[in-house]
Amino acid sequence: MSKMIFCDFDGTITKSDNIISIMRHFNPPGWEPIKDQILSREITIREGVGNMFAMLPSSLKEDIIQYVVETAEIRDGFGEFVAYTRKENVPLNIVSGGIDFFVKPMLAPFQLDDQLYCNDSDFSDDTIRITWPHTCDSQCSNDCGCCKPSIIRRLAGDDVQKIVIGDSVTDLEAAKLADLVFVCGEYLEEKCRELNLPYQRFEDFNEIIQYLEQQQEVVQR
Ligand code: MG
Ligand code: ZN
Repeated sequence: MSKMIFCDFDGTITKSDNIISIMRHFNPPGWEPIKDQILSREITIREGVGNMFAMLPSSLKEDIIQYVVETAEIRDGFGEFVAYTRKENVPLNIVSGGIDFFVKPMLAPFQLDDQLYCNDSDFSDDTIRITWPHTCDSQCSNDCGCCKPSIIRRLAGDDVQKIVIGDSVTDLEAAKLADLVFVCGEYLEEKCRELNLPYQRFEDFNEIIQYLEQQQEVVQR
């Protein structure tokens, strides 16, 4: 059976969530209540993220990019993992609720632009406007922003083994469609346990390589 991988960015490829760290650093008045409303599901992710960025002046673009590039850390083993998927010919898709202008510079060393699905941005107004090229299909009513289950449905057929890698609330709907979930955050681990989804915990991407190699050996035996 062929495999396809769908990997989250914030908190998974990077060690922490970049939207939260941008908001904390640039601190536009009123962002925290919006964050809380997203987490308690009073407003949708699309609405909340759009509203938070709309509080930041477009003139901050370069400062934000520089801040993320200088402070965000890539999780160990990610470069090796990208190389592994290329060697094994397993399609690796990065599905991110992050925004192009900071996700792309962080991923530049790994040359993943053709495999990246995230939100876009427009700096032509006074404040930052997020645009949403990957909104929910007719089967999703969560108003995700970047809709991971819709992307999975579009890219992977029923005959493909779907592997989802993630940490948090934005990965939950994708995890429900997965044959195997690799988890690196409390929230998603708890939900996987609760819903009885097949998952493996990991801290370092080398552990995923090891797991997939072992799985391959079992199949070949
Ligand atoms: Mg995440
Ligand atoms: Zn959706």
